[in-house]
Amino acid sequence: MSEHNILSISGGKDSTALLLLARERQPENMQAVFADTGNEHPQTYDYLHYLEQATGMQIRWVKGDFSAQITKKREYVLAHWADKGVPQTAIDRAAAALVPSGIPFLDLCIWKGRFPSAKAAFCSEELKRNPIQRKVQFPLMDTGHDVISWQGVRADESLRRSLLIENDLALTNNNGAEMWNYRPILKWTAQDCFDMHKKHGIKHNPLYEQGMGRVGCMPCINCRKDELLEISKRFPEEIDRIRQWELAVKEASKRGASTFFAAPSGDSAWSATQTIDVFVEWAQTSRGGKQFDFIRMDDGPLCSSIYGLCE
Ligand code: SF4
Repeated sequence: MSEHNILSISGGKDSTALLLLARERQPENMQAVFADTGNEHPQTYDYLHYLEQATGMQIRWVKGDFSAQITKKREYVLAHWADKGVPQTAIDRAAAALVPSGIPFLDLCIWKGRFPSAKAAFCSEELKRNPIQRKVQFPLMDTGHDVISWQGVRADESLRRSLLIENDLALTNNNGAEMWNYRPILKWTAQDCFDMHKKHGIKHNPLYEQGMGRVGCMPCINCRKDELLEISKRFPEEIDRIRQWELAVKEASKRGASTFFAAPSGDSAWSATQTIDVFVEWAQTSRGGKQFDFIRMDDGPLCSSIYGLCE
């Protein structure tokens, strides 16, 4: 039985610093893995290719596949929604929309009939943690290997992350193989991460110079008001894409309404109207838009995931 070191990389500064630390330490059986959500900016994809070439370290790409769940949901909709009082027009609409696109983020939302939110943050787990576990970590454990899961989390990012420790046992499988979480940059600052880039002569993701405080989904469901404004100005095509996704998810949802950013109060009638365009318009206001204050406006962490898979 040997030990395998699996490092999760997102293309952001923290996981890149983690990769560079691993490059220094050269742990045995090391693999860097990137989970592609399908909601990343093209510059992040380019940056990952650059990292491979500049560091000489191969990065394996994995992605979630929700086609089986969508097929099952379609069958369920056709068999059971009528018994639940759903009008036939809504059943026909949803059944026609329950078709996989091959884009993990979109397919996850088509399957769920909704976008993730701060309260229902299933995206990081479904799009990042699970594909890495299923495609890389669990097969190793099934053949009796222990896995060390390198995670680029930092304690000063959030209260949740500040409570983490550097090493802990994540799980043990039926063969007795163990997976350990390893967080070697837990006590690092953001500056320490940028310094690590400099030490290795590695450029950081160019998105940091384009108004993005964090690198991850474009946009993240928890993005800040100022980031949304930057995205809309610099990358309007990403807003166009989200607008199309809202239409696709809306069609697949039971109530025929779904928006990228969640409703603050559960007001279903109102939430159906708060499309990405409404938020972009609000992001252009210097003050006001009080009702949208549930989008982060400070410099806090964007994702509460403790796995360090989203920055
Ligand atoms: S970056 Fe944001 S939207 Fe993307 S998976 Fe993480 S929490 Fe979800």
